[in-house]
Amino acid sequence: MTTDTTTFATLNLDPKILRAIDDQGYTTPTPIQAQAIPLVLEGRDLMAGAQTGTGKTAAFTLPLLQKLAPHASTSTSPARHPVRALILTPTRELAIQVEASVKAYGKHLPLRSLVVFGGMEMKAQTAALKLGVEILVATPGRLLDHVEQRSVQLNQVQMLILDEADRMLDMGFMPDLKRILALLPKQRQNLMFSATFSNDIKKLADDFLTDPILIEVARSNAAAENVTQKIYRSAQSDKQALLAQLLRTQNVQTLIFTKTKLTASRLARMLQKEGVAADAIHGDKTQQERMQALDAFKEGRITTLVATDVAARGLDIDQLPMVINYEIPSAAEDYVHRIGRTGRAGASGIAISLVSPEEEKYLKEIEKLIKREIPQEDTPRVQAAPRTERAPRERETSPRQVAAATRKTSDAWFDKPYEPSVSSTATPTDAPRSMSRQKREIPALLGGLKTRTE
Ligand code: AMP
Repeated sequence: MTTDTTTFATLNLDPKILRAIDDQGYTTPTPIQAQAIPLVLEGRDLMAGAQTGTGKTAAFTLPLLQKLAPHASTSTSPARHPVRALILTPTRELAIQVEASVKAYGKHLPLRSLVVFGGMEMKAQTAALKLGVEILVATPGRLLDHVEQRSVQLNQVQMLILDEADRMLDMGFMPDLKRILALLPKQRQNLMFSATFSNDIKKLADDFLTDPILIEVARSNAAAENVTQKIYRSAQSDKQALLAQLLRTQNVQTLIFTKTKLTASRLARMLQKEGVAADAIHGDKTQQERMQALDAFKEGRITTLVATDVAARGLDIDQLPMVINYEIPSAAEDYVHRIGRTGRAGASGIAISLVSPEEEKYLKEIEKLIKREIPQEDTPRVQAAPRTERAPRERETSPRQVAAATRKTSDAWFDKPYEPSVSSTATPTDAPRSMSRQKREIPALLGGLKTRTE
Protein backbone atom coordinates (compact mmCIF):
# COMPACT_ATOMS: atom_id res chain seq x y z
CA MET A 1 0.00 0.00 0.00
CA THR A 2 1.46 3.37 -0.94
CA THR A 3 0.67 6.72 0.52
CA ASP A 4 1.44 10.32 -0.23
CA THR A 5 4.44 10.02 2.06
CA THR A 6 6.12 7.38 -0.11
CA THR A 7 9.73 8.34 -0.80
CA PHE A 8 12.20 6.75 -3.16
CA ALA A 9 14.10 5.46 -0.12
CA THR A 10 11.03 3.51 1.09
CA LEU A 11 10.62 1.80 -2.28
CA ASN A 12 13.50 -0.61 -1.61
CA LEU A 13 15.50 0.41 -4.62
CA ASP A 14 19.20 -0.37 -5.05
CA PRO A 15 21.46 2.45 -3.72
CA LYS A 16 22.96 2.76 -7.21
CA ILE A 17 19.51 3.47 -8.63
CA LEU A 18 18.74 5.89 -5.77
CA ARG A 19 21.95 7.73 -6.59
CA ALA A 20 20.88 8.07 -10.25
CA ILE A 21 17.45 9.35 -9.15
CA ASP A 22 19.20 11.87 -6.96
CA ASP A 23 21.40 12.90 -9.90
CA GLN A 24 18.18 13.66 -11.82
CA GLY A 25 17.08 15.94 -8.98
CA TYR A 26 13.89 13.97 -8.23
CA THR A 27 12.93 14.17 -4.58
CA THR A 28 9.56 12.40 -4.42
CA PRO A 29 8.04 9.64 -6.52
CA THR A 30 5.14 10.77 -8.70
CA PRO A 31 1.80 9.01 -7.98
CA ILE A 32 2.24 6.51 -10.82
CA GLN A 33 5.75 5.70 -9.57
CA ALA A 34 4.57 5.26 -5.97
CA GLN A 35 1.87 2.85 -7.13
CA ALA A 36 3.67 0.94 -9.86
CA ILE A 37 7.16 0.40 -8.43
CA PRO A 38 6.20 -1.92 -5.51
CA LEU A 39 3.89 -3.96 -7.74
CA VAL A 40 6.50 -4.41 -10.46
CA LEU A 41 9.06 -5.41 -7.85
CA GLU A 42 6.57 -8.02 -6.61
CA GLY A 43 6.51 -9.44 -10.13
CA ARG A 44 2.90 -8.54 -10.93
CA ASP A 45 1.59 -7.80 -14.43
CA LEU A 46 0.29 -4.25 -14.71
CA MET A 47 -2.23 -2.37 -16.77
CA ALA A 48 -1.34 1.23 -16.03
CA GLY A 49 -3.36 4.22 -17.13
CA ALA A 50 -0.96 7.12 -17.25
CA GLN A 51 -0.35 9.90 -19.70
CA THR A 52 3.01 11.21 -20.76
CA GLY A 53 4.14 13.77 -18.22
CA THR A 54 3.14 11.71 -15.17
CA GLY A 55 6.57 10.14 -14.73
CA LYS A 56 5.42 6.83 -16.25
CA THR A 57 8.81 6.07 -17.84
CA ALA A 58 10.57 5.97 -14.47
CA ALA A 59 7.58 4.04 -13.07
CA PHE A 60 8.55 1.04 -15.19
CA THR A 61 12.26 1.72 -15.72
CA LEU A 62 13.28 1.97 -12.06
CA PRO A 63 11.85 -1.41 -10.95
CA LEU A 64 13.03 -2.95 -14.23
CA LEU A 65 16.61 -1.88 -13.45
CA GLN A 66 16.22 -3.16 -9.90
CA LYS A 67 15.07 -6.56 -11.15
CA LEU A 68 17.88 -6.81 -13.69
CA ALA A 69 20.59 -5.50 -11.36
CA PRO A 70 21.60 -9.03 -10.22
CA HIS A 71 22.33 -9.83 -13.89
CA ALA A 72 24.57 -6.80 -14.38
CA SER A 73 27.91 -7.93 -15.68
CA THR A 74 31.11 -6.25 -16.75
CA SER A 75 32.00 -9.25 -18.91
CA THR A 76 32.59 -8.45 -22.58
CA SER A 77 31.10 -11.76 -23.70
CA PRO A 78 27.81 -11.20 -25.62
CA ALA A 79 26.48 -14.40 -24.06
CA ARG A 80 26.51 -12.64 -20.67
CA HIS A 81 24.27 -9.88 -22.04
CA PRO A 82 21.11 -11.46 -23.48
CA VAL A 83 18.01 -9.29 -23.97
CA ARG A 84 16.18 -9.61 -20.64
CA ALA A 85 13.81 -6.66 -20.90
CA LEU A 86 12.04 -5.54 -24.05
CA ILE A 87 10.34 -2.15 -24.21
CA LEU A 88 8.14 -1.54 -27.26
CA THR A 89 7.05 1.95 -28.25
CA PRO A 90 4.96 3.19 -31.18
CA THR A 91 7.37 5.87 -32.43
CA ARG A 92 11.07 6.40 -32.72
CA GLU A 93 10.91 9.65 -30.77
CA LEU A 94 9.41 7.88 -27.78
CA ALA A 95 11.87 4.99 -28.17
CA ILE A 96 14.80 7.41 -28.06
CA GLN A 97 13.32 9.19 -25.05
CA VAL A 98 12.71 5.98 -23.12
CA GLU A 99 16.17 4.62 -23.80
CA ALA A 100 17.72 7.90 -22.66
CA SER A 101 15.81 7.46 -19.37
CA VAL A 102 17.01 3.86 -19.04
CA LYS A 103 20.58 5.10 -19.49
CA ALA A 104 20.11 7.96 -17.01
CA TYR A 105 18.51 5.84 -14.26
CA GLY A 106 20.87 2.92 -14.87
CA LYS A 107 24.05 4.92 -15.18
CA HIS A 108 25.64 3.44 -12.05
CA LEU A 109 24.83 -0.17 -13.04
CA PRO A 110 26.77 -2.19 -15.62
CA LEU A 111 23.60 -3.02 -17.58
CA ARG A 112 23.56 -2.39 -21.30
CA SER A 113 20.70 -0.76 -23.19
CA LEU A 114 20.07 -0.02 -26.84
CA VAL A 115 17.37 1.62 -28.93
CA VAL A 116 16.43 0.36 -32.40
CA PHE A 117 13.90 2.00 -34.71
CA GLY A 118 13.08 2.27 -38.40
CA GLY A 119 14.32 4.94 -40.77
CA MET A 120 17.95 4.39 -39.80
CA GLU A 121 20.59 2.08 -41.25
CA MET A 122 20.38 -1.43 -39.82
CA LYS A 123 24.15 -1.91 -39.76
CA ALA A 124 25.12 0.03 -36.64
CA GLN A 125 22.10 -1.35 -34.75
CA THR A 126 23.01 -4.89 -35.79
CA ALA A 127 26.61 -4.47 -34.62
CA ALA A 128 25.45 -3.13 -31.23
CA LEU A 129 22.90 -5.94 -30.85
CA LYS A 130 25.56 -8.55 -31.55
CA LEU A 131 27.64 -7.24 -28.64
CA GLY A 132 24.69 -8.02 -26.34
CA VAL A 133 22.23 -5.79 -24.47
CA GLU A 134 20.04 -6.50 -21.45
CA ILE A 135 17.48 -3.77 -22.11
CA LEU A 136 16.23 -3.28 -25.65
CA VAL A 137 13.93 -0.41 -26.57
CA ALA A 138 12.38 -0.85 -30.01
CA THR A 139 9.66 0.08 -32.41
CA PRO A 140 7.88 -3.12 -33.49
CA GLY A 141 8.67 -3.14 -37.22
CA ARG A 142 12.39 -2.61 -36.83
CA LEU A 143 12.59 -5.22 -34.09
CA LEU A 144 11.07 -7.78 -36.46
CA ASP A 145 13.58 -6.78 -39.13
CA HIS A 146 16.35 -7.63 -36.68
CA VAL A 147 14.67 -10.87 -35.71
CA GLU A 148 14.49 -11.81 -39.39
CA GLN A 149 18.18 -11.00 -39.83
CA ARG A 150 18.96 -13.05 -36.74
CA SER A 151 20.75 -10.14 -35.14
CA VAL A 152 18.69 -10.50 -31.96
CA GLN A 153 17.31 -13.35 -29.88
CA LEU A 154 14.32 -12.83 -27.64
CA ASN A 155 14.20 -16.19 -25.86
CA GLN A 156 15.52 -14.82 -22.58
CA VAL A 157 13.16 -11.88 -22.24
CA GLN A 158 11.74 -11.86 -18.72
CA MET A 159 10.03 -8.48 -18.83
CA LEU A 160 7.94 -6.96 -21.62
CA ILE A 161 6.78 -3.36 -21.50
CA LEU A 162 4.27 -1.95 -23.98
CA ASP A 163 4.51 1.82 -23.77
CA GLU A 164 1.70 3.95 -25.18
CA ALA A 165 -0.16 0.79 -26.08
CA ASP A 166 -3.21 2.75 -27.24
CA ARG A 167 -1.14 4.51 -29.86
CA MET A 168 0.40 1.22 -30.97
CA LEU A 169 -3.07 -0.10 -31.72
CA ASP A 170 -4.07 3.14 -33.45
CA MET A 171 -1.05 2.81 -35.68
CA GLY A 172 -1.94 -0.72 -36.70
CA PHE A 173 0.85 -2.51 -34.86
CA MET A 174 -1.33 -5.33 -33.55
CA PRO A 175 -0.13 -7.97 -36.07
CA ASP A 176 3.49 -7.05 -35.32
CA LEU A 177 2.86 -7.21 -31.57
CA LYS A 178 1.38 -10.68 -31.94
CA ARG A 179 4.41 -11.85 -33.91
CA ILE A 180 6.80 -10.45 -31.32
CA LEU A 181 4.88 -11.93 -28.40
CA ALA A 182 5.06 -15.35 -30.02
CA LEU A 183 8.87 -15.11 -29.90
CA LEU A 184 9.05 -14.43 -26.16
CA PRO A 185 9.20 -16.99 -23.35
CA LYS A 186 5.74 -17.71 -21.95
CA GLN A 187 6.98 -17.13 -18.41
CA ARG A 188 7.54 -13.39 -18.18
CA GLN A 189 6.28 -10.21 -16.54
CA ASN A 190 4.18 -7.86 -18.68
CA LEU A 191 3.57 -4.16 -18.11
CA MET A 192 1.23 -2.19 -20.30
CA PHE A 193 1.04 1.59 -20.21
CA SER A 194 -1.71 3.47 -21.99
CA ALA A 195 -3.01 7.01 -21.77
CA THR A 196 -6.53 5.88 -22.56
CA PHE A 197 -8.68 2.81 -21.89
CA SER A 198 -10.64 2.02 -25.03
CA ASN A 199 -12.30 -1.35 -25.50
CA ASP A 200 -9.46 -2.34 -27.82
CA ILE A 201 -6.96 -1.65 -25.06
CA LYS A 202 -8.96 -3.69 -22.57
CA LYS A 203 -9.01 -6.54 -25.09
CA LEU A 204 -5.23 -6.28 -25.57
CA ALA A 205 -4.80 -6.38 -21.79
CA ASP A 206 -7.02 -9.50 -21.58
CA ASP A 207 -4.97 -11.21 -24.27
CA PHE A 208 -1.47 -10.42 -23.11
CA LEU A 209 -1.47 -9.80 -19.37
CA THR A 210 -1.70 -12.44 -16.67
CA ASP A 211 -3.89 -11.56 -13.71
CA PRO A 212 -2.97 -7.87 -14.08
CA ILE A 213 -3.41 -5.17 -11.49
CA LEU A 214 -5.03 -2.06 -12.85
CA ILE A 215 -3.59 1.23 -11.70
CA GLU A 216 -4.55 4.69 -12.79
CA VAL A 217 -3.14 8.01 -11.75
CA ALA A 218 -5.89 10.22 -13.05
CA ARG A 219 -9.37 9.57 -14.30
CA SER A 220 -8.96 7.78 -17.60
CA ASN A 221 -9.10 10.07 -20.59
CA ALA A 222 -8.91 13.11 -18.31
CA ALA A 223 -7.06 16.06 -19.71
CA ALA A 224 -4.13 17.34 -17.67
CA GLU A 225 -5.43 19.33 -14.72
CA ASN A 226 -2.70 21.93 -14.72
CA VAL A 227 -3.20 22.90 -18.35
CA THR A 228 -5.37 25.95 -19.00
CA GLN A 229 -7.42 25.11 -22.05
CA LYS A 230 -9.18 27.60 -24.29
CA ILE A 231 -10.61 27.82 -27.76
CA TYR A 232 -10.77 30.56 -30.32
CA ARG A 233 -13.41 30.18 -33.00
CA SER A 234 -12.10 31.13 -36.41
CA ALA A 235 -12.76 30.50 -40.08
CA GLN A 236 -10.14 28.12 -41.44
CA SER A 237 -8.98 30.84 -43.83
CA ASP A 238 -8.31 33.24 -40.91
CA LYS A 239 -6.32 30.80 -38.80
CA GLN A 240 -2.97 31.57 -40.32
CA ALA A 241 -3.09 35.27 -39.40
CA LEU A 242 -4.63 34.50 -36.00
CA LEU A 243 -1.85 32.05 -35.24
CA ALA A 244 0.87 34.50 -36.21
CA GLN A 245 -0.73 37.09 -33.93
CA LEU A 246 -1.05 34.66 -31.00
CA LEU A 247 2.61 33.76 -31.33
CA ARG A 248 3.57 37.42 -31.37
CA THR A 249 1.51 38.31 -28.31
CA GLN A 250 2.27 35.22 -26.23
CA ASN A 251 5.93 35.13 -27.21
CA VAL A 252 6.70 31.76 -25.59
CA GLN A 253 8.07 28.42 -26.72
CA THR A 254 5.15 26.83 -28.60
CA LEU A 255 4.34 23.45 -30.08
CA ILE A 256 1.75 23.67 -32.86
CA PHE A 257 -0.26 20.69 -34.04
CA THR A 258 -1.63 20.11 -37.50
CA LYS A 259 -3.46 17.10 -38.89
CA THR A 260 -1.41 16.70 -42.03
CA LYS A 261 2.25 16.59 -42.92
CA LEU A 262 1.57 19.05 -45.71
CA THR A 263 0.00 21.60 -43.39
CA ALA A 264 2.85 21.21 -40.91
CA SER A 265 5.43 22.01 -43.61
CA ARG A 266 3.50 24.87 -45.10
CA LEU A 267 2.71 26.40 -41.76
CA ALA A 268 6.36 26.29 -40.69
CA ARG A 269 7.33 27.97 -43.95
CA MET A 270 4.68 30.63 -43.52
CA LEU A 271 5.85 31.32 -39.97
CA GLN A 272 9.44 31.57 -41.10
CA LYS A 273 8.34 34.20 -43.62
CA GLU A 274 6.59 36.04 -40.79
CA GLY A 275 9.90 36.17 -38.94
CA VAL A 276 9.10 33.40 -36.47
CA ALA A 277 11.94 30.97 -35.70
CA ALA A 278 9.99 27.86 -36.68
CA ASP A 279 10.52 24.36 -38.04
CA ALA A 280 8.33 21.32 -38.69
CA ILE A 281 8.57 17.65 -37.76
CA HIS A 282 6.50 14.96 -39.42
CA GLY A 283 6.76 11.50 -40.95
CA ASP A 284 8.20 12.68 -44.28
CA LYS A 285 11.25 14.26 -42.66
CA THR A 286 14.36 12.18 -42.28
CA GLN A 287 15.28 11.07 -38.81
CA GLN A 288 18.22 13.46 -38.88
CA GLU A 289 16.01 16.41 -39.81
CA ARG A 290 13.59 15.56 -37.03
CA MET A 291 16.36 15.28 -34.47
CA GLN A 292 17.89 18.56 -35.61
CA ALA A 293 14.57 20.39 -35.37
CA LEU A 294 13.84 18.89 -31.97
CA ASP A 295 17.26 19.77 -30.62
CA ALA A 296 16.95 23.33 -31.94
CA PHE A 297 13.56 23.59 -30.20
CA LYS A 298 14.79 22.12 -26.93
CA GLU A 299 17.80 24.43 -26.93
CA GLY A 300 15.64 27.46 -27.73
CA ARG A 301 17.27 28.14 -31.11
CA ILE A 302 13.80 27.92 -32.59
CA THR A 303 10.75 29.05 -30.63
CA THR A 304 8.04 27.27 -32.56
CA LEU A 305 7.76 23.68 -33.67
CA VAL A 306 4.94 22.51 -35.94
CA ALA A 307 4.17 18.81 -35.62
CA THR A 308 1.76 16.11 -36.65
CA ASP A 309 0.34 13.82 -33.98
CA VAL A 310 2.52 10.84 -34.78
CA ALA A 311 5.74 12.86 -34.98
CA ALA A 312 5.02 14.49 -31.62
CA ARG A 313 4.45 11.27 -29.71
CA GLY A 314 6.88 10.83 -26.87
CA LEU A 315 8.34 14.30 -27.12
CA ASP A 316 9.51 15.31 -23.70
CA ILE A 317 10.28 18.96 -23.72
CA ASP A 318 10.92 20.38 -20.29
CA GLN A 319 8.85 23.39 -19.43
CA LEU A 320 6.93 23.72 -22.65
CA PRO A 321 4.56 26.60 -21.86
CA MET A 322 2.14 26.46 -24.79
CA VAL A 323 0.49 24.09 -27.22
CA ILE A 324 -1.66 25.37 -30.08
CA ASN A 325 -4.00 23.13 -32.01
CA TYR A 326 -4.01 24.77 -35.43
CA GLU A 327 -6.33 22.01 -36.54
CA ILE A 328 -8.57 19.98 -34.26
CA PRO A 329 -7.80 16.25 -34.27
CA SER A 330 -10.55 13.99 -35.56
CA ALA A 331 -9.66 11.36 -32.94
CA ALA A 332 -10.61 12.99 -29.64
CA GLU A 333 -7.94 11.10 -27.72
CA ASP A 334 -5.25 12.83 -29.77
CA TYR A 335 -6.37 16.08 -28.13
CA VAL A 336 -5.50 14.65 -24.71
CA HIS A 337 -2.11 13.54 -25.97
CA ARG A 338 -1.45 16.90 -27.60
CA ILE A 339 -2.21 19.05 -24.60
CA GLY A 340 -0.26 16.62 -22.40
CA ARG A 341 2.89 18.00 -24.03
CA THR A 342 2.56 21.06 -21.82
CA GLY A 343 1.97 21.23 -18.08
CA ARG A 344 4.30 18.31 -17.43
CA ALA A 345 5.53 17.07 -14.05
CA GLY A 346 3.49 19.63 -12.14
CA ALA A 347 4.30 22.71 -14.27
CA SER A 348 1.45 24.79 -15.66
CA GLY A 349 0.73 25.21 -19.34
CA ILE A 350 -1.68 26.71 -21.87
CA ALA A 351 -3.43 24.81 -24.64
CA ILE A 352 -5.16 26.91 -27.28
CA SER A 353 -7.34 25.38 -29.98
CA LEU A 354 -8.36 27.19 -33.13
CA VAL A 355 -11.75 25.81 -34.10
CA SER A 356 -13.33 26.35 -37.51
CA PRO A 357 -17.04 25.74 -38.10
CA GLU A 358 -16.14 22.53 -39.93
CA GLU A 359 -14.33 21.29 -36.83
CA GLU A 360 -17.16 21.84 -34.33
CA LYS A 361 -18.06 18.15 -34.51
CA TYR A 362 -14.55 17.16 -33.42
CA LEU A 363 -14.66 19.68 -30.58
CA LYS A 364 -17.90 18.11 -29.33
CA GLU A 365 -16.25 14.68 -29.24
CA ILE A 366 -13.29 16.09 -27.32
CA GLU A 367 -15.52 17.77 -24.75
CA LYS A 368 -17.46 14.54 -24.33
CA LEU A 369 -14.20 12.65 -23.78
CA ILE A 370 -12.70 15.04 -21.25
CA LYS A 371 -16.11 15.56 -19.67
CA ARG A 372 -15.89 19.31 -19.64
CA GLU A 373 -16.55 22.27 -21.85
CA ILE A 374 -13.45 24.09 -23.04
CA PRO A 375 -13.86 27.83 -22.35
CA GLN A 376 -14.15 30.00 -25.42
CA GLU A 377 -12.28 33.31 -25.53
CA ASP A 378 -13.13 36.22 -27.80
CA THR A 379 -11.11 35.80 -30.92
CA PRO A 380 -8.66 38.71 -31.07
CA ARG A 381 -8.97 41.08 -34.02
CA VAL A 382 -6.09 40.20 -36.25
CA GLN A 383 -3.76 43.06 -37.08
CA ALA A 384 -1.39 43.06 -39.98
CA ALA A 385 2.06 42.13 -38.74
CA PRO A 386 5.14 44.08 -39.66
CA ARG A 387 7.35 41.80 -41.69
CA THR A 388 10.58 41.22 -39.81
CA GLU A 389 13.95 39.98 -40.93
CA ARG A 390 14.68 36.49 -39.84
CA ALA A 391 17.17 36.15 -37.05
CA PRO A 392 20.46 34.58 -38.16
CA ARG A 393 19.99 31.54 -35.97
CA GLU A 394 16.79 30.63 -37.81
CA ARG A 395 18.93 29.91 -40.80
CA GLU A 396 20.31 26.94 -38.89
CA THR A 397 17.34 24.90 -40.08
CA SER A 398 18.12 22.09 -42.47
CA PRO A 399 19.22 22.91 -46.02
CA ARG A 400 16.04 21.25 -47.30
CA GLN A 401 13.99 23.57 -45.13
CA VAL A 402 15.84 26.66 -46.25
CA ALA A 403 15.46 25.63 -49.87
CA ALA A 404 11.77 25.08 -49.28
CA ALA A 405 11.37 28.42 -47.56
CA THR A 406 12.98 30.30 -50.39
CA ARG A 407 11.11 28.43 -53.11
CA LYS A 408 8.40 30.57 -54.58
CA THR A 409 5.20 29.08 -53.29
CA SER A 410 1.68 30.28 -53.33
CA ASP A 411 0.05 30.76 -49.98
CA ALA A 412 -3.33 30.52 -51.60
CA TRP A 413 -3.54 27.01 -50.18
CA PHE A 414 -4.10 28.44 -46.74
CA ASP A 415 -7.16 30.28 -47.92
CA LYS A 416 -8.84 27.16 -49.17
CA PRO A 417 -11.68 25.91 -47.00
CA TYR A 418 -10.65 23.10 -44.72
CA GLU A 419 -11.22 19.66 -46.13
CA PRO A 420 -10.38 16.65 -44.03
CA SER A 421 -8.50 14.34 -46.34
CA VAL A 422 -7.67 10.67 -46.11
CA SER A 423 -4.00 11.47 -46.42
CA SER A 424 -4.33 13.63 -43.38
CA THR A 425 -2.77 11.38 -40.79
CA ALA A 426 0.97 11.22 -40.52
CA THR A 427 2.21 7.83 -41.61
CA PRO A 428 3.83 5.79 -38.86
CA THR A 429 7.54 5.87 -39.41
CA ASP A 430 7.97 2.27 -38.46
CA ALA A 431 4.87 0.92 -40.11
CA PRO A 432 3.55 -2.54 -39.38
CA ARG A 433 5.51 -4.94 -41.51
CA SER A 434 3.18 -7.82 -41.90
CA MET A 435 1.51 -6.04 -44.82
CA SER A 436 2.78 -4.70 -48.10
CA ARG A 437 4.08 -1.13 -48.08
CA GLN A 438 0.84 0.15 -49.61
CA LYS A 439 -1.40 -1.76 -47.28
CA ARG A 440 0.68 -0.78 -44.29
CA GLU A 441 -0.62 2.74 -44.34
CA ILE A 442 -4.28 1.76 -44.19
CA PRO A 443 -4.65 0.85 -40.51
CA ALA A 444 -2.85 4.03 -39.54
CA LEU A 445 -5.15 6.10 -41.66
CA LEU A 446 -8.20 4.40 -40.25
CA GLY A 447 -6.80 4.87 -36.77
CA GLY A 448 -6.34 8.55 -37.39
CA LEU A 449 -9.80 9.02 -38.77
CA LYS A 450 -11.54 7.03 -36.11
CA THR A 451 -13.30 9.13 -33.52
CA ARG A 452 -13.70 7.31 -30.27
CA THR A 453 -15.87 8.51 -27.51
CA GLU A 454 -14.99 6.18 -24.68
P1 AMP B 1 7.22 10.82 -18.42
O1 AMP B 1 5.77 10.81 -18.03
O2 AMP B 1 7.88 9.54 -18.11
O3 AMP B 1 7.37 11.23 -19.86
O4 AMP B 1 7.97 11.92 -17.53
C1 AMP B 1 7.67 13.27 -17.59
C2 AMP B 1 8.75 14.14 -16.99
O5 AMP B 1 8.76 14.05 -15.57
C3 AMP B 1 10.16 13.82 -17.45
O6 AMP B 1 10.78 15.04 -17.83
C4 AMP B 1 10.84 13.24 -16.22
O7 AMP B 1 12.21 13.58 -16.22
C5 AMP B 1 10.11 13.92 -15.09
N1 AMP B 1 10.03 13.10 -13.85
C6 AMP B 1 9.86 11.77 -13.76
N2 AMP B 1 9.79 11.36 -12.48
C7 AMP B 1 9.95 12.46 -11.72
C8 AMP B 1 9.96 12.70 -10.30
N3 AMP B 1 9.80 11.72 -9.42
N4 AMP B 1 10.13 13.97 -9.88
C9 AMP B 1 10.26 14.98 -10.78
N5 AMP B 1 10.26 14.84 -12.13
C10 AMP B 1 10.09 13.59 -12.60
